[in-house]
Amino acid sequence: MARGEIDNEDEIRFECPSCGTEIDPWADLDAALFPCPHCGETIDLMAQQALARAVVNYHFAQELTTAELFNSKKRLSQLAPQSKDALRTYQKSYNSVRLALHNQLPAAQQRTAIEIMAEIARILPRHHMISALEARYWAQLMVCRTAQEEYEALQARLHQPRPKLLTRLVRHPHWRLRRFQLKRALVRREKKLQDLERDLAFVDNLQVRRGQAEL
Ligand SMILES: [Zn+2]
Repeated sequence: MARGEIDNEDEIRFECPSCGTEIDPWADLDAALFPCPHCGETIDLMAQQALARAVVNYHFAQELTTAELFNSKKRLSQLAPQSKDALRTYQKSYNSVRLALHNQLPAAQQRTAIEIMAEIARILPRHHMISALEARYWAQLMVCRTAQEEYEALQARLHQPRPKLLTRLVRHPHWRLRRFQLKRALVRREKKLQDLERDLAFVDNLQVRRGQAEL
């Protein structure tokens, strides 16, 4: 077992994404969906366990990270022992996030998952662990998600109640310009993402919140 690897992954704990109550890892985890004992919200166990495992492994991998991972393009077998451990742990985290994203995660957790993927996708292709195409997909998904969030935040601000007629007429021209720019960029980025998706079979069943970019 690699240094830093989790001794017993079954004991990874996770919390209800709605209320933060810690879920007993020995609870009836055979069911795919599990009602939170505190708030009753339905929890997708596969997604929560996979994401919790991914986050823990990601942090372990970061602790083990060496400059070699960023400076060289060596294959796993050619790396120094600590770099090897780090790379293997990043790969485990990556696999867990993929599993989590094939199940239902709340929007905030989806963001965490995509952030982790975008970070790990900077490392794995250097060492031939995933394809450059796959790495580009995660980077592009992260860019789209961030732009989408900025667009939605701006939409919300522009739809706040308008206090006065005069204000309405002159209100926030820079926000409107920014919204226009974001909308255009989003459509462009979404198109790039769709092009990547055509060549990546695994994305077919990913449960990532999308689709508002067409606006
Ligand atoms: Zn709960």
